[in-house]
Amino acid sequence: MIIRRYFLALPALLAAAPSCARGPEGAPGAQPAAAAQPLRIGPEGLAQGGLAFGQATPGSRVTLDGKPVQVSPDGRFVLGFSRDAAPVARLAVTTPGRGTEQRELAITQREWDVQRLSGLPAAMVSPNARQLERINAERKRIATTRAVDSDLPYFTEPFIRPAPGRISGIYGSQRILNGEPRAPHLGLDIAAPTGTPALAMGSGRVLLAADLYFTGNTIILDHGHGVTTLYAHLSAMSVAEGQSVRQGQRIGATGATGRVTGPHLHLGVNWLTTALDPGPLLPPT
Ligand SMILES: [Zn+2]
Repeated sequence: MIIRRYFLALPALLAAAPSCARGPEGAPGAQPAAAAQPLRIGPEGLAQGGLAFGQATPGSRVTLDGKPVQVSPDGRFVLGFSRDAAPVARLAVTTPGRGTEQRELAITQREWDVQRLSGLPAAMVSPNARQLERINAERKRIATTRAVDSDLPYFTEPFIRPAPGRISGIYGSQRILNGEPRAPHLGLDIAAPTGTPALAMGSGRVLLAADLYFTGNTIILDHGHGVTTLYAHLSAMSVAEGQSVRQGQRIGATGATGRVTGPHLHLGVNWLTTALDPGPLLPPT
């Protein structure tokens, strides 16, 4: 709810920026003396798995826990916090001629469910050497795809729901598959019958559209600044890698491909390689 309000407030916040904040050609660095803007971070109450937006003076350099963060020509940036993020994150914003502002961001620590799934095919829970080779190659491919830090401007756009349906699996759950502990579930599952249209949550570009071992037919969209959305187990894909998409555009249909116990849409939202909780980023039903 708070995040939604912040999203709505953001365009107003940007509209209030002085018009000289951007160079005449819109080129970064074209403006020698951008007007100073107070550093803003939202929403209030950052938590593990959360996404935050920032606004700084154009031309600023930003780091989070010492790692550089991309800043748009008009001073906008985005931050993400993992499922296991520490209670404090350190943000540093350096503005030309004005020094560095340090901020400690308090990250609320959450509690996670334990989810037990049984009756999965043995090959899906304990793959053989040949399957492992494929799985590892695909993991690398997904990680490389999610590490893309493009300058697309859609990362502040509020997301829409990709498909209607009940939430059947939540972010962060520890998974026990056929009695064996596995990596936590780092996405959100929406129960939807096979063939339900899957819609792009935001505008962007198709980074990946491929059939993968665990996630079946999988699409990853880039919304800019490392914000990506992933749609898994699709029965059909109607976009190709490199293609631009608009928010709400049909990109495929939900299904039951890959490692599943029934038809559903597995949804992932990432900030670079950090997997976020899609739940708070979806509009209320
Ligand atoms: Zn899932």
